[in-house]
Amino acid sequence: MAAHAEGALEHVPVAATASAPAAAPPEERFELEPILTAIVQGHVAAEERLPGQQPIVVPHVWYSDTGDVLNVELGKAYLPTDYTITFEERVSDIGDLLISYTEQRTPIYRVDVWFEGKDIFFYFPEERGPEDKIVPKQPQEAKHLPKRDLGNGRVLVSAGHGIYYNSRYKDWRAQRDPVNRVVEDFWTPSFARRLAKFLQERSDAEVIRARSSDATRHADSKMPWYYMAARYHIQAMLPEVPSIWNSPGKSALGMEERDQDIRSRPLFANHLGVDAAIHLHTNADARPEIRGVRVFHHMKSPESKRLADLALCYMKESLSSNDFYSTFPVARQANPKDHGENRLATMPSIIAKLGFHTNKDDADAIQNETFQTLTMRGLEKAYRLFRQGNGCAPFDATYSDVTVMSDSTAAASITFAGFPSFPVRLESVVAECPSGVMCWPIAGYFKDPTAPLTMSHSCLAKEPFTMKWNVRFIDADGISARTTAVMHCKPKAKTPS
Ligand SMILES: [Zn+2]
Repeated sequence: MAAHAEGALEHVPVAATASAPAAAPPEERFELEPILTAIVQGHVAAEERLPGQQPIVVPHVWYSDTGDVLNVELGKAYLPTDYTITFEERVSDIGDLLISYTEQRTPIYRVDVWFEGKDIFFYFPEERGPEDKIVPKQPQEAKHLPKRDLGNGRVLVSAGHGIYYNSRYKDWRAQRDPVNRVVEDFWTPSFARRLAKFLQERSDAEVIRARSSDATRHADSKMPWYYMAARYHIQAMLPEVPSIWNSPGKSALGMEERDQDIRSRPLFANHLGVDAAIHLHTNADARPEIRGVRVFHHMKSPESKRLADLALCYMKESLSSNDFYSTFPVARQANPKDHGENRLATMPSIIAKLGFHTNKDDADAIQNETFQTLTMRGLEKAYRLFRQGNGCAPFDATYSDVTVMSDSTAAASITFAGFPSFPVRLESVVAECPSGVMCWPIAGYFKDPTAPLTMSHSCLAKEPFTMKWNVRFIDADGISARTTAVMHCKPKAKTPS
């Protein structure tokens, strides 16, 4: 046994998959509905009206019979003249408000917003997105790909926002305001860079970035290219396809090019025929206490939901491997929502929101390289397991108790759950050692996932004793699983003289 000492080990359990949270029971729904209605009413009353919206909006909020969906009726008074990304964000905010209000007690899966009993696309049918959202499974999808090795994935990694031209103020500006020293537009590329690298190295995927990572200057704005929104990068790459970056959507407040930027990302993904689109954002809420990682997926795409659920699962697994971020909140389930970035895509498409920049702790994490690496490492693993058709199973390990006769050896067997990448390293610290006995940490290295996983133990004893170790397995991705190892040492049976 090699002696290998390490620092204190905390007893941090490996991320367990939370079972689907229970829907609100009927009596609680009746109690909550007027409260939720009042919350939406207060929120909407405080909003500045968009062109076409009426001054008085009377919302009504009620649960579905199943208790896991909330309905919000806003009436025709809330309808704007034109469908804009600003309007889409307003509707999205109402959903976020209800999701975060209910999540502690009786989480909901989805918020459906109605305008006199119809969804928004009844009024703006051209915004509905690709008609058939039943996303085909991998083998069928393959035919959409250009000639290349079909074994490798192609992914659009899309860092949210970036500098755009505001035609009302006639200037170039970020899409999000600074909060807690964070401007979302300038931090999402740090996540995108890491995700791209992990996808290339670990998933063997071809990665296309929606925003440029170039440090040279964009001619019109004089800004570095890496600050610029995707719209301008795509325009430079595909000047002959203006339908992608110069989409005809309407906008209010001089934000035509900001709206085009949102649309350009899924339209670019469709043009490329990638097999997944991953959009990276941070989140915002008027209440500074709201925090955590969330993932949103396309409303009608089961494959998007599968990718989104895996994204949460493996980001949580990855964060749990780190002592500092092991308790960082991660949503228990992904939510469907009609974000333009997902809705207009014809492939599995998700939005990962990597903490709330409106929360102080999350804002610190967003700027932290370790947090960026941990979340993106998990997101890559999610994509890899998505491609393989695997589910959510966090890395876990068991170490069998072993009984050893003095001056001989016996093997403990090790079992892994989840999808660790080999080689897997074993480190330990001695947790229990009887006085008068020399105890050493155990250490190991497992290269072959198909070979039986065992550790050999030996001891010398005149009296029986027990030793314990806190054990940590670390896989090739850097994901760890913790358990304990126990050895009982027995003296040799007395031989007759
Ligand atoms: Zn964003």
